[in-house]
Amino acid sequence: MRAARPRRDECAAVDGLSAATVREIRLCERRHLWPGAVARALADWRRLAHGPQRRLRPEVYRADCLCCDAVEHRRILDTALTRLPARAARELRSQVAALDDLFERRTLPDPAADPALPWWQRRL
Ligand SMILES: [Zn+2]
Repeated sequence: MRAARPRRDECAAVDGLSAATVREIRLCERRHLWPGAVARALADWRRLAHGPQRRLRPEVYRADCLCCDAVEHRRILDTALTRLPARAARELRSQVAALDDLFERRTLPDPAADPALPWWQRRL
């Protein structure tokens, strides 16, 4: 259930992105996601990456509810990064990459994880 979808005027309000990139994100959301998906996923991924260490464990950040599942948040960002035009993707990636680095530094590789999973699902 996605109980807390943002209102339309909150869509894709991501700090530090150019107006052109925000526009591309809106188009991408309309085609492949839903309004506000990217801003929300980025905020949630940022909160996890910068949050307390005790939250950085899959048994804590995984959730049955998609809107609360950190793995789903990162997947949404991946959808945007792979579908946005190059310039917009690059801008968004600069923000996501900083959070990815932090998440990676603060977690450990899971040696038992399925190598077919995306990297962010192979961390402990
Ligand atoms: Zn939820």
